[in-house]
Amino acid sequence: MPNSIVTRRDVIRYTAGRAAIAGGVTAIVTMIFLVMDLGTDPQVLVPVGKVARFSMIVALSVSVALSAALSFRSAMLMRQLALTRAELMRVSRTDPLTGLLNRRGFDEAAARLLAKANAAGKRVVALMCDIDRFKAINDRYGHDAGDRVLARMGDILRDFGARNDVLIARHGGEEFAGLMIDVGDEDATRCALALCRLCSTDVTGGDVAVPVTMSFGLATHLPGGDLAALMRRADQALYRAKDLGRNCVVQIDEMEAAAVC
Ligand code: GH3
Ligand code: MG
Ligand code: MG
Repeated sequence: MPNSIVTRRDVIRYTAGRAAIAGGVTAIVTMIFLVMDLGTDPQVLVPVGKVARFSMIVALSVSVALSAALSFRSAMLMRQLALTRAELMRVSRTDPLTGLLNRRGFDEAAARLLAKANAAGKRVVALMCDIDRFKAINDRYGHDAGDRVLARMGDILRDFGARNDVLIARHGGEEFAGLMIDVGDEDATRCALALCRLCSTDVTGGDVAVPVTMSFGLATHLPGGDLAALMRRADQALYRAKDLGRNCVVQIDEMEAAAVC
């Protein structure tokens, strides 16, 4: 596959090269068939009908073979382009450390889910969570241990999201976001509490066990609001959870910790 076609000049050069190859192949094949069919004597007299039939056969065969080869090649290139584009889309929406959706991926997927839920009249609850005192974890155990904690929290959230049909993403830094569809406030709080307990754990690795907790904020989507407003409200609830001592869940309408995990 050509991988050095970058400028317009490259395109013209490549096209001219292919055209020259096509012309050359046509000339050589025509010559071969000509010699095979009519012989090598240039003085020999040949009926016009025979030449016409011969020309038709050679022209058809060469053009069909060449256009099939070129079409196959273009189809392979288009397929490669589509696969590369899909991979680029995936990479640009994935957080490399946790393998979760990143902020961009979350915003797109969540906006789609929200629109669908709105159309179907389903309730939507947003969740924001943040690792408690993560800076102190980095300072005390080192950045690599901090990364291990992020990856482990990512695993816990991904598993939980997959089991409970919750869209999960790394929203940035040590903050994660989630979206629950068709769930009531009580169920959402119960869900977040279960997650809070799962995240309250020791992350081991490199001969150390790092104690980790997370705080959670929940907000229910209000009619007329958009995704940004919903996530802002979940973020307010998260701030409140931090104020209330961390390692707990706060629902925006309650603004009191549902429970300390
Ligand atoms: P709080 O409980 O209030 O959330 O306190 P905190 O220490 O968790 O919050 P703060 O915003 O003070 O610190 C967040 C830290 O997260 C600072 C930043 O260096 C660290 N951090 C952000 N992204 C990464 C990352 O990808 N890897 C590591 N190891 N640290 C990160
Ligand atoms: Mg934090
Ligand atoms: Mg934070």
